Amino acid sequence: MPYKDPVKQKQCQNEWYLRNKELTAERRKKNRAKNPEKKREYDRLWAKAHRKERSTHAKVYYALKMGKLVKGPCNRCGATENIQGHHHDYDKPLDVEWLCPVCHGKEHRKVKS
Ligand SMILES: [Zn+2]
Ligand SMILES: [Zn+2]
Repeated sequence: MPYKDPVKQKQCQNEWYLRNKELTAERRKKNRAKNPEKKREYDRLWAKAHRKERSTHAKVYYALKMGKLVKGPCNRCGATENIQGHHHDYDKPLDVEWLCPVCHGKEHRKVKS
């Protein structure tokens, strides 16, 4: 809406600018609180870890296909269905422990806590 009074218009723009400035400052403060550097570092580590995980799983898949690795029953409960390879160390891709999904889940919860 156009203002007839140029002074009033200017004032209005100033108010808008100030309000906006406050908002921007507020947003910036919030972002800083979230710590973008830490987030970036976390993202980087996550990507790195998962790249390794993916390549490790690819190596296991290949080894299984080539017969270098043979899936066994679950190392904990002896189940033979849906056996998954659990890695204690992703630097040793062929050093896997065979676990059923239940025991595998338990194993990961154990590691995390
Ligand atoms: Zn099991
Ligand atoms: Zn695992």
